[in-house]
Amino acid sequence: MTMTGTIRTTCPYCGVGCGVLATADGRGGFDIAGDPDHPANFGRLCSKGSALGETTGLEGRLLTPRINGVQAGWDQALDLVAGRFRQTIAEHGPDSVAFYVSGQLLTEDYYVANKLMKGFIGSANIDTNSRLCMASSVAGHKRAFGSDTVPGLYEDFEQADLVVLVGSNLAWCHPVLYQRLVAAKTLRPAMKVVVVDPRRTATCDIADLHLALAPGADAALFNALLAQIVARGAVDRRFLAHVSGFAEALVAAQASDPGATGLAPADLRAFCDLWIGTEKVVTVYSQGINQSASGTDKVNAIINCHLATGRIGRPGMGPFSVTGQPNAMGGREVGGLANMLACHLELDNPAHRDAVQGFWGSPAMPTAPGLKAVDMFRAVEEGRIKALWIICTNPAVSMPDADRVAAAIRGCDFVVVSDMIAETDTTRLAHVLLPATGWAEKDGTVTNSERRISRQRALRAPAGQARHDWRILADVAARMGWGAAFAWASPAEVFAEYAALSGVAGTLGSDFDISNRAEQGADGYAAMQPFLWPDAPARQGGRFFGDGRFHTPDGKARMLPVTPQAPKAALSPDYPFRLNTGRVRDHWHTLTRTGLSPRLSAHLAEPFLEIHPDDAMRLGLAPAGLAEVTSPQGRAVLRVLVTDRVKPGEVFAPMHWTGETAPTGRVDALVASVVDPVSGQPESKAAAVRVAPFAAR
Ligand code: SF4
Repeated sequence: MTMTGTIRTTCPYCGVGCGVLATADGRGGFDIAGDPDHPANFGRLCSKGSALGETTGLEGRLLTPRINGVQAGWDQALDLVAGRFRQTIAEHGPDSVAFYVSGQLLTEDYYVANKLMKGFIGSANIDTNSRLCMASSVAGHKRAFGSDTVPGLYEDFEQADLVVLVGSNLAWCHPVLYQRLVAAKTLRPAMKVVVVDPRRTATCDIADLHLALAPGADAALFNALLAQIVARGAVDRRFLAHVSGFAEALVAAQASDPGATGLAPADLRAFCDLWIGTEKVVTVYSQGINQSASGTDKVNAIINCHLATGRIGRPGMGPFSVTGQPNAMGGREVGGLANMLACHLELDNPAHRDAVQGFWGSPAMPTAPGLKAVDMFRAVEEGRIKALWIICTNPAVSMPDADRVAAAIRGCDFVVVSDMIAETDTTRLAHVLLPATGWAEKDGTVTNSERRISRQRALRAPAGQARHDWRILADVAARMGWGAAFAWASPAEVFAEYAALSGVAGTLGSDFDISNRAEQGADGYAAMQPFLWPDAPARQGGRFFGDGRFHTPDGKARMLPVTPQAPKAALSPDYPFRLNTGRVRDHWHTLTRTGLSPRLSAHLAEPFLEIHPDDAMRLGLAPAGLAEVTSPQGRAVLRVLVTDRVKPGEVFAPMHWTGETAPTGRVDALVASVVDPVSGQPESKAAAVRVAPFAAR
């Protein structure tokens, strides 16, 4: 059944979280438009959002459960899943099972998965593909602010006099925010934009200054800036009363070599002149910072500069992490990472643990963090994880060292995959496949990069026998003996419980308290308009920390001493190129949805390798020929794109294409599974590779 009229919902792709108006077109599809009233996009959409109507058909859908590739009934599949998880836990303990989930899940789905694993199975082995996206920002926020809190709002991008984009190709990865920035700069030509990125990306089109720094040298850049802030007397001494660690951070910054940035001294000086000379500055950062073996330090190097100058939590200023996925933020809010609890409470805080356990009435709670994504798949490989449930994600393509991850999943005793897509590199490895609802069928909430919670609303009934993820998880929980705690009839009831739990968090000092939403019931949920947390009363116009109050025990922000680190994958004569991976404008993740749109696929039909003309000539690589790219981990064959967008010695490849759709090989198979020791986030942007002309064998 298709809903009639125009439905207000939210785009399922990136963390901008644009509002969408969807209207049935009478031919089984939907006309899509931007929601003019949604505060994230005010009616704008990018190419991906505009093409949503082309991706809602039944092509490629998983419509029934399957056991070992054979169609099965729901009862049979759910009994098998619950039975095998129960048996595995009984024989090997709760830490022998794991959930690997997704920033594509709705908050309600995430809440139920987290409650089942942490509150009832009694393990913290639930992690998410958001670990690959923004875990370093979470860790950096917690170290600096005492909580994982994004201080600012999207409107700060427009109110700033200087926007610095670090490791962020906003034009392609967060296109509507980019559109807002372009519009603001057009209105106020005096506004300046600096792009810090080794590549000359599409975002550089609006840059007044592009700093093509050495790969991974961001901490050296912001250390140099901090040293200059002090040298030029630009420290906000009044605000420093709210900050600890200034002296230590400064010593580290002054010991840092600005030459490590690889920038010309004049460019470095121009950047410092602009940043220090402009009070209203927003420093936006994304995967180029986060996806690093020292990503957390890089986040803190940026935050240090904002704390030293008091440029935080006021209109038009602050550090700002933009999340990759539509609900990376919502997952954080419900504790969907292995080291978090729920509602921004801490797993390693006994008072927090007791409060959540009491609220849930749970029989067992873990006392230690679970396995983060890379470690989780290593545990699968080593046989320590014996039952794995992968929900709404495709780790056989997207994890670093992807071939090894695929082999580990293939070797696991029992693998369950819930997905809306029948054939992915990961679903092919499942013992049990469970059909989940897709974007046009799901009902729930998501939180975008500026902490704005929006409704996603169903446009039609589930396809085939597909069920909502929260429902599948609750059905398995019931079969494992915990039905009373998972007896919701609707996502509105799940949300109400989660909002009530946030009230408990509020009593423990958290700003994340949306419990008044629980009181509004199903009608309030149905009619919910996008809202920011803190819900009420909003501080500082919805911003945090401008009043100098932070969430640390002493109420002060912490500046961290940062020693810049080179990328972990060392270059060598065998692997002399630095491979940067990322996204293209028109595709999302592993193409399972955007690949369905002819319009989106018309832009780029296959993956490519950007390589500098000098390197291409030296290696004998012809434009549009094929290059073989090899790393110690894997191999891929990619179409050659000769361009001076990359510097000599550096290459770039998009990560979307799978082993089957690429000329050959998964790009993430080239990436080593080295991680940031604090955040556990892999270093996806600095692999060491060899490049050669492809010769068919
Ligand atoms: Fe969707 Fe992001 Fe594009 Fe907005 S900017 S329409 S959320 S993909």
